[in-house]
Amino acid sequence: MSRYPGELEELFKALGEPGYRARQLFGWLHQKRARDFMEMTSLSSGLRERLREEYSISRPFVKKKLVSELDGTVKYLYALSDGEAVEGALMRHRHGNSLCISTQAGCRMGCAFCASATGGLKRNLTAGEMLGEVYETAHDLLASGEKLGSLVLMGTGEPLDNFDEVMRFMELLSNPAGFGMSLRRLSLSTCGLADGIRRLAEKRYPLTLSVSLHAPRDDTRSELMPVNRRHDIASLLAACKDYFEITGRRISFEYALMAGKNDGPQDALDLAALLKGMNCHVNLIPHNPVAERDFTRPSQETVQRFLRILESRGITATVRRELGSDVLAACGQLRNSGG
Ligand code: SAH
Repeated sequence: MSRYPGELEELFKALGEPGYRARQLFGWLHQKRARDFMEMTSLSSGLRERLREEYSISRPFVKKKLVSELDGTVKYLYALSDGEAVEGALMRHRHGNSLCISTQAGCRMGCAFCASATGGLKRNLTAGEMLGEVYETAHDLLASGEKLGSLVLMGTGEPLDNFDEVMRFMELLSNPAGFGMSLRRLSLSTCGLADGIRRLAEKRYPLTLSVSLHAPRDDTRSELMPVNRRHDIASLLAACKDYFEITGRRISFEYALMAGKNDGPQDALDLAALLKGMNCHVNLIPHNPVAERDFTRPSQETVQRFLRILESRGITATVRRELGSDVLAACGQLRNSGG
């Protein structure tokens, strides 16, 4: 699942099989999304047997599925081959279905408000496992005649902390001989690994980069997000500016509003001053309370006041609609609940 077409060809060469067979295998894996070599009927039965003996398609499977009665959001728990499990959430928007997937089992970034940080990092996901999250969901949608519109890497994990596998995942996902999803339909969210942002810029993918900012000053941000002690706001924004210079793509900043922490008028003014002149968009997310954490959500009025201040200073911002609150849609919550 994690191999590029060229790598499959090499592998097949070693097995004494022609290159076009490798391309057929790639199509079976990524276009037809086969779960088992035996399904691949255009390959000889001898070859299928051999593949089955020597290789495995370590495809996650849906262990649990919860559908929100409020808005149709679907929460998936995907089981991985070693017994780990990760989450995804399918959100219904006017512009289509958007799937949020995990890039790591657990996370080591330690954000103070996040459910995924509770148990630390278990391990990185492979490109194949991330593809599995997408393919399993695409299958599930197909059953009701629906399609996947867009994808966000905003579930559990820090995608830029699993850089190589996430890049491989995106390249395989967008390969026209496979699933063929344009990276224009993908957003990658990072807690702000400035070096990773620069590395990503060099790839020049047409994706949307989201940066979790959550505070306009280093003291508050370091308290909420330990990563800020490594990459402070100034170095993070310098990397964001370079990212825009190199890719020409507007950055989206995530700002989770937490009552009494980062939601005051001065915070809004400082945020506006910080982002002034940058080609960006701010996504305000009313904090999603997590059982293990003691942050709370501000009132609607506080959220609206924050938004108005940003807008009055010329910063484009939107408030994210809450989805799936009855199915633990915030990342990490279902996994932590023991599935
Ligand atoms: N590691 C990446 C992506 C995963 S988190 C990142 O940090 O961006 C996806 C988004 O959800 C981030 O903006 C994160 O800060 C935010 N988030 C995490 N826990 C949250 C909570 N309880 N309420 C609101 N947003 C939260």
